[in-house]
Amino acid sequence: MQGEGAWVGRRQIFVRCAGCNLACAYCDTRHEMPSEILTEDGRALANPVGPEALLTLVDAFLKRLPGAHHSLSLTGGEPLLHAGILREILPLLRGRLPVYLETNGTLPEALSQVLPHLDHVALDIKLSTVTGEPTRWEAHAEFLRLADPVGGCVKLVVAPELAEEELARAAALAAEKAPHLPLILQPRTGGAACTASRLLRWQALAARLHPDVRVIPQTHVALGLR
Ligand code: SF4
Repeated sequence: MQGEGAWVGRRQIFVRCAGCNLACAYCDTRHEMPSEILTEDGRALANPVGPEALLTLVDAFLKRLPGAHHSLSLTGGEPLLHAGILREILPLLRGRLPVYLETNGTLPEALSQVLPHLDHVALDIKLSTVTGEPTRWEAHAEFLRLADPVGGCVKLVVAPELAEEELARAAALAAEKAPHLPLILQPRTGGAACTASRLLRWQALAARLHPDVRVIPQTHVALGLR
């Protein structure tokens, strides 16, 4: 189940890609590649899963649960680290389901390699005062420009330590480069919580700069889904 962003509540088949080019302070994703994966129906499979095995798995899900899935989500880590492989398998996967990319929005050259094979892009602007990593403003700007015609959403993970000038800069950048994508403020899961009054203040601040600002927490955690 998609637990974040504008497509929250949509059931998806998740393809999780190993590795990431960032090291966000709040990251809860294993970056090393496990030697085996566990599928939703409880089967353990040797990893990495090759293209043929992946297609077989997807076909089995579609046969078992006809009509249940909205799309296939490429998630990570950072899927665009694997742009070369994705370019080969996405045409095959897209023949089965629409393709939804979840990305940290920092690798625009890799995005351009797979862009013709995507139906939705959910990208983050990673804010330094929350991630502890420098914000890649130039890369995010180019990424937003490329993603806007595809459709999707832009997410900002927010937390009490967020600097409001950074939020304002990100909202203005998203409005300028990707005006058709809603901007989602996503309170960080875990750690110190954002108060409701602070979230409302940030929503109002961002809404002065961006036409479609929403506040949506991660929901899969509450549902016991990871
Ligand atoms: S971009 Fe995502 S996967 Fe990578 S370190 Fe940050 S939170 Fe983790």
